[in-house]
Amino acid sequence: MFHGLITVAYIVAALLFILSLAGLSKQESAKKGNIFGIVGMIIALLATLVSAGVIKGSATEYAGYFLETENLRIFGYILVAMVVGGLIGVRLALKVEMTGMPELVACLHSFVGLAAVLVGYNSFFKTSLEAAVHGGSVTLELTEVFLGVFIGAVTFTGSIIAFGKLRGIISSSALSLPGKHWWNLLAIVASVVLMGFFLSAQGASDSLVFLIVMTVIAFVLGLHMVSSIGGADMPVVISMLNSYSGWATAAAGFMLSNDLLIVTGALVGSSGAILSYIMCKAMNRSFISVIAGGFGNEGAAVSTEEEGEYREMNPEEVAEALKQSESVVIVPGYGMAVAQAQYPVADITRRLKEKGVNVRFAIHPVAGRLPGHMNVLLAEAKVPYDIVLEMDEINEDFPGTDTVLVIGANDTVNPSAQDDPSSPIAGMPVLEVWKANTVVIFKRSMNAGYAGVGNPLFYKENSYMCFGDAKATVDKILLAMQ
Ligand code: NDP
Repeated sequence: MFHGLITVAYIVAALLFILSLAGLSKQESAKKGNIFGIVGMIIALLATLVSAGVIKGSATEYAGYFLETENLRIFGYILVAMVVGGLIGVRLALKVEMTGMPELVACLHSFVGLAAVLVGYNSFFKTSLEAAVHGGSVTLELTEVFLGVFIGAVTFTGSIIAFGKLRGIISSSALSLPGKHWWNLLAIVASVVLMGFFLSAQGASDSLVFLIVMTVIAFVLGLHMVSSIGGADMPVVISMLNSYSGWATAAAGFMLSNDLLIVTGALVGSSGAILSYIMCKAMNRSFISVIAGGFGNEGAAVSTEEEGEYREMNPEEVAEALKQSESVVIVPGYGMAVAQAQYPVADITRRLKEKGVNVRFAIHPVAGRLPGHMNVLLAEAKVPYDIVLEMDEINEDFPGTDTVLVIGANDTVNPSAQDDPSSPIAGMPVLEVWKANTVVIFKRSMNAGYAGVGNPLFYKENSYMCFGDAKATVDKILLAMQ
C-alpha cells in the first residue's frame, strides 16, 4: 500500500516535470512551467525521503516505521544536509546577477556530474559487497556503474572549464593541442578497453583500480574536450553539458534503482540534446564537429584588428535619428545584459510606439550567454512578446528598416560570418543589420565580442558607433527624446 503511494507520487512528479518543460517552451507560460517544476521537485523529494532506499525496515509497507529511532536519525542527517545545501542554494540564487546565470548553470552541471561519480563509487562498493556475500552475476550493475562514472566525470570537469570560460577566468578561445582529436579518441578507446578489464576482473580490488584509472581519464577528457571548443561554439557546449548532466542523472537512477531519477534524467538528457541540435542549426555547425572539439576550425584566424575608419553618433543625435524614423529594430546582445539596459530600452520602445513608430526586437538564437537570455531580460522589463521576433522572422525586414539599434551585440551581427570564409564564425547565420538605412552600435570600445573576432560592421558607411555603457547611453537618449 505504502509502496504504491510512493510510485504514484513518482508518476505525478514525472508528469509535472513534463508539464514544466512544456510550459518553459513559451514565454507566456514560462512562469507556470516553473511552478510545475517546483511542485514536482517537492513531491519527488518527499517521496524519495520515505522510500525503501532511505528508510530502514519495511517502512514502505507500514507508515509507523518512520518513527523508529534508526529512521528518525537518518531523517535528521538528511534534513541537516538539505537545510545547509538549500540555504547555500537560496543565497547564491538571490545574489547572482542575470549576467552570472550562465556560470551558475555550468557550476550546477558540474555538481550533477560529481554526484553521478560519487553515486557510481558508492554503488560499486555496495554491489561488490553484495556479490561477495550472496554470489551471482552483477555484470549489468557494474556496467551501469562504469558508464555512470564515465559520463559523470566528463560532465564534472567539462562543466568546470565551461564555468571558467563563461566567467572569463579561462580564455574563451579554443585550446589547440597537436593531434587533439586523436587524444580524445584515445581516451574513449582506453575507457572502452578498461571497461572490459573492469567487468572481467576477478576481485573487487582489481576492478576498483580499473575504475579509478578510467575516472582519471574521463576527468582529463572532459577538461580537454571543452577546452578545445572555442568562442562562438560555447552555446553548444552549455546545452551539451546540460544534456550530459541529464544522462549522468539517469545513470545514477539506474544505479540507485530509482525510476523517477531515470525519467527525470532522460527528460533533461533528451531536452538538452534537442537544444544542442537547435543551437548547432542556429550556428550552422554540425553537432559532431562541435563536440569533437571544433573540427574544421584549425585554420581559422582570430582577427581583432581595426579595419578602417568608423563614424560616431552621440545620444542626442541618436534621439534625433529615432524621431525621424518610421521603423526601428532593436538588436540586444550580451552587453545589454551586462549594463542591465533592458529597462530604459523598454521605456524607449514604449515612447516610440506612442509616436506610431513600428518598433520590433530581433533576437539571435545565441545572443547573450545562455539560450533565451535576451528573451528573459526583455520579459523582465515587460516588453510585449509580440514585438520580440526570432532571427528567421525578422532578417528579411532589415532592408526596409530606417534605424537599427545594436545594443551590446557584436558576434551575432558580424558580417564576416557571411563574407570571410577564414573567420572562426564563418557560416554562422547572423542578423543582417547592415542592410538597414542606419545602424547605431552601442558599446564601450572597439573591442571584439565573445568569439574574439573583429567586426567589419563598425566600419560600414551606414554604421555609427555610440560609445559608453549601454544603460547610461539609453538613459541619455530617453532624456533627449522628451
Ligand atoms: P558578444 O559577446 O559578441 O558582444 C557583446 C558586446 O557587448 C561586446 O562587444 C562588448 O563590447 C559589449 N558590452 C559589454 N558590456 C557592455 C556595456 N556595459 N555597455 C555596452 N556594451 C557592452 O555578444 P552577442 O550577444 O552578440 O553574442 C553572443 C556571443 O556569446 C556569441 O559568440 C555566442 O556564441 C557566445 N555564447 C553564447 C551563449 C548562449 O547560449 N547564448 C553561451 C556561450 C557563449 P565593449 O567591451 O566594447 O563594450
